[in-house]
Amino acid sequence: MSQKQTTKVTCPKCGKEHDFAIWSSINVTLDRDQKEEVLNRNAFTFECPDCKEKTLYTYDFLYHDMEQKIMIYHVTTNEALVQAMEGFAQMTNVGVDDGILTGPEVEGYRKRIVRSLNDLREKIFIFDAGLDDRVVEIFKVFCIIQLKQSDPDFQADEAYFYKRDGEMGFQFLREGKAFGEVAIDPADYEDLAKTAADILTKEEQQNNYVIDTEWAYKSITEEG
Ligand SMILES: [Zn+2]
Repeated sequence: MSQKQTTKVTCPKCGKEHDFAIWSSINVTLDRDQKEEVLNRNAFTFECPDCKEKTLYTYDFLYHDMEQKIMIYHVTTNEALVQAMEGFAQMTNVGVDDGILTGPEVEGYRKRIVRSLNDLREKIFIFDAGLDDRVVEIFKVFCIIQLKQSDPDFQADEAYFYKRDGEMGFQFLREGKAFGEVAIDPADYEDLAKTAADILTKEEQQNNYVIDTEWAYKSITEEG
């Protein structure tokens, strides 16, 4: 079950105090509507009943998809990151005892930690597309390297996987604005998945939970 607590927040516009629901865990299998609420950020948006001002509150929580066997911690601080890592490590050893899962059921779960709602969204899109996020991140790095080779001025602050109308690719952002896209050829993805198999087998044993561009750069260079 999804678990929530109620906290008090002060509206930044009118200064009035109101209750706001904070989810410590969001189970999108048991609460199907919650997934859309996560994707469109309603779950983290406080709308002031007085002045209707909307404010985004990000906090730490666990995103849990029992169907796809996915657990993603969204963390906002370094302490929460360490806690999430420890939490996952313990789950591997003894199973999680929060009333949701017991030992053997944790088997086969993909466990991830993300540091922003955009990163969480991207993970959800990647897993929904049936892809391996590690391959996608490595693909992304190769894309960036190639784009920089063809245009030395190419500079992206962020890059996210997308899938729409059956097409998938990466969208690049600079200063929060999307300025370009590159399509992913599914055949190229499959090729890369085969080539990267060695890295991934090794990675699996290391229990890496933070799979991002930095991780991908490191994996590629270490492979040398
Ligand atoms: Zn207000």
